[in-house]
Amino acid sequence: MEIQRKVKYEEELDRTFSEVIKTMSGDNELDHCIQCGTCSSSCPMSVYMDYPPRKIIALVKNGFKDEALRSFTIWLCPSCYTCQVRCPAKIKITDVMYALKRLAIQEKVYPSRFSIPVLDREMSKMIAKNGRNSELWVVLKLYLKSRKPLGLLKMAPMGLKLMKTGRMSLKKESIKDKKQLRTLLKALKEEA
Ligand code: SF4
Ligand code: SF4
Repeated sequence: MEIQRKVKYEEELDRTFSEVIKTMSGDNELDHCIQCGTCSSSCPMSVYMDYPPRKIIALVKNGFKDEALRSFTIWLCPSCYTCQVRCPAKIKITDVMYALKRLAIQEKVYPSRFSIPVLDREMSKMIAKNGRNSELWVVLKLYLKSRKPLGLLKMAPMGLKLMKTGRMSLKKESIKDKKQLRTLLKALKEEA
């Protein structure tokens, strides 16, 4: 068994990390976290997370970039905003989670076979290309890219039922004016 070091030395921390996340999330209160735990105790998903929201905020605040970006927590957060509404320090916790997801995708450090970031990435790619999401194709890509072909086989009967009733189609949805979409996306990228 490989023994892994858990303790971090000061020089291994990224002191610019919290500033990057503050800019990306629009949160200026992050440093005021009092570690009260209201966010973690309010979070419906915290039992499944590797770090509850309170710890994520502490990791970001103290420069533990790798731990925060590689955590499963950010992908398990469905953005219900309960923590953000209840935080006594008015920290935009949900927006911080969004910023962490975006940075993890940019730096390609998300768990590559975990379904949620794969779904996120494939759906965004399809919308950026066609202006529409085609469910059947997104599901196909999700199972293939997360290397779970057996899951695809299990879902096949339900997929066929949905196709029979017209709820899902093989057709790739697309908007007419893709040029306009690309101009819009380019402008958004330049602003970010
Ligand atoms: S509720 Fe706010 S202040 Fe309390 S631990 Fe969570 S982020 Fe920090
Ligand atoms: S927004 Fe995310 S982190 Fe906050 S309570 Fe909801 S699921 Fe938990």
